[in-house]
Amino acid sequence: MELITTDVAIVGAGGAGLRAAIALAQSAPALRIALISKVYPMRSHTCAAEGGAAGVVKPDDSFDMHFDDTVGGGDWLSDQDCVEYFVREAPKELTQLEHWGCPWNREADGSVAVRPFGGMKKQRTWFAADKSGFHILHTLFQTTLQFPSITRFDEYYALDLLVDDGRCQGLTAMEMRSGMVKQFNAGAVIIAGGGAGRIFPFSTNGAIKTGDGMAMAYRAGVPLKDMEFVQYHPTGLPNTGSLLTEACRGEGGVLVNKNGRRYLQDYGMGPETPLGKPELKTMELGPRDRVSQAYWHELQKGNTVSTQWGECVMLDMRHLGEKTINERLPLVRELAIAYLGVDIVTDAVPIRPVVHYMMGGISTNTQAATTLPGLFAAGECACVSLNGANRLGSNSLVELLVFGKSAAMSAIAHLQGLPAANTAALEAQAKESQARIRALFSCTDGTESMSGLRKEMMDTMEKNAGIYRTEAGLQEAVDKIQQLRQRYQNVVLNDKSNVFNTDLFQVLELGSMLECASALTVGALARRESRGAHQRLDFVDRDDQNYLRHSMAHYQGQKMPTVDYLDVVITKSPPGVRDYSGAHK
Ligand SMILES: Cc1cc2nc3c(=O)[nH]c(=O)nc-3n(C[C@H](O)[C@H](O)[C@H](O)COP(=O)(O)OP(=O)(O)OC[C@H]3O[C@@H](n4cnc5c(N)ncnc54)[C@H](O)[C@@H]3O)c2cc1C
Repeated sequence: MELITTDVAIVGAGGAGLRAAIALAQSAPALRIALISKVYPMRSHTCAAEGGAAGVVKPDDSFDMHFDDTVGGGDWLSDQDCVEYFVREAPKELTQLEHWGCPWNREADGSVAVRPFGGMKKQRTWFAADKSGFHILHTLFQTTLQFPSITRFDEYYALDLLVDDGRCQGLTAMEMRSGMVKQFNAGAVIIAGGGAGRIFPFSTNGAIKTGDGMAMAYRAGVPLKDMEFVQYHPTGLPNTGSLLTEACRGEGGVLVNKNGRRYLQDYGMGPETPLGKPELKTMELGPRDRVSQAYWHELQKGNTVSTQWGECVMLDMRHLGEKTINERLPLVRELAIAYLGVDIVTDAVPIRPVVHYMMGGISTNTQAATTLPGLFAAGECACVSLNGANRLGSNSLVELLVFGKSAAMSAIAHLQGLPAANTAALEAQAKESQARIRALFSCTDGTESMSGLRKEMMDTMEKNAGIYRTEAGLQEAVDKIQQLRQRYQNVVLNDKSNVFNTDLFQVLELGSMLECASALTVGALARRESRGAHQRLDFVDRDDQNYLRHSMAHYQGQKMPTVDYLDVVITKSPPGVRDYSGAHK
């Protein structure tokens, strides 16, 4: 097996992975950096982000206000020391991006333009039209190109971590075009593998978001934190799940039911306000969990619109006018025309909530370090406890930057004075990892189809672990996921070729998704309260007495995970009531 020796290996070349790579290369130019990604970097999901990135920049805004919005939006499950650090770093990172070439939209006077976003009581979302993620990722990617110490391994599929002497010392990855497994020995590993929204059938997430990074860390003994918190975005296209960014509502779009009523006023999100004046609007800019839950209630009441794509509500942006739409929301117009044949300039567009983001992930501290020395994680795959029980839109893109950089700094510190690696032990582990793949190839008596298992998993998640949950439904989901994990042992690999074997990658991705789904369902069953995105019909209230704590799911091999809890860090904001009736000022 080919051995590649490096100082730091990064899994993932989305926003978090690229930011980490730049910080490493800038701060420690002598380090060798291996940047491993299963897709070409610009195909990472960060590219699909539309709306923008939050950071205090206007004179009437403050770090305290960004802190309060994030902590309240997260239903007090955020670690407040983490949020304090984040809000201060956010504008620095966004300005840094500008210096690297990110074309932020401007006000007429030349200052950075910001737009309103859900749950943010001030306007602080920086944006580049509705292609913010594309521009951020491109800026980071082009910046990495100037550093010779970054070696890219594009289209390499990371498999397993190598752990010896109580610390992470590398990983195995398969070169996808040849099918060769390679061993990477590294003093430190940073996982930036993105989210796992694809465990649900209906998601805004790209097909590559299968939780591989989370599963790798989890199998190596690192707990997954707060996995039960899954964010639904209120406005997805009903057929493809494609996202219509929150900026639609930030710019003044409204949500109406079949009677033409702006129904959010019926769910504690403020009085009806004039159309097309986003600075005065409150309702449509409620936080995502609340707006998605309101849809569910409208559905129960029979107030939704029946369309050829199922039940929907309508997102109406006609009053914004063609000029504003073309300037601020060109991609949204394009998506609605391409996928539904609806032009938002002349018609309201049908939408429904769709799985968007995982608040949970690999448990890290504020320095992006996991419990396993030598292993760091950042971005959506990590749970640094910024987002709590519900992420506010536009905090994630900044999280990638702030904590991608933290992961790099922590990795550099970890490398100081490391003892020499036991190369024989690492090689033995790499061979085990390779043997796992070979076993899939040599198996002749498999009975289970990958796509069949995957469909059953997705259907179970949609049915039992969606916007509203119950004890009985979650128990059914736990039992089913455990059964699917067992059946997965007999999965059939149909394609036995070595070159770009997509069948193999989908089998491996399904394995990752089943691990994430098991942590998610067990965590959700154990949390007998409603908080943020985790809503139980049988435990409707928030229960700070028992559950103002992070859940930690621990891998148990063939058995389902065990869950224990970690206290939330509260520095200055005691748990309070979430209030969204105040106007955007
Ligand atoms: C449609 C959409 C719109 C969004 N809009 C916004 C927004 O406006 N504002 C905001 O703040 N947030 C937004 N988000 C959320 C935000 O974009 C994501 O949370 C964020 O981009 C994730 O970045 P990441 O670097 O963690 O992971 P990603 O960008 O998903 O990158 C993951 C990387 O890991 C690699 N990888 C994964 N598994 C493996 C493996 N096994 N081997 C090797 N490599 C692997 C992939 O190749 C990829 O390079 C949006 C999300 C979506 C889906």
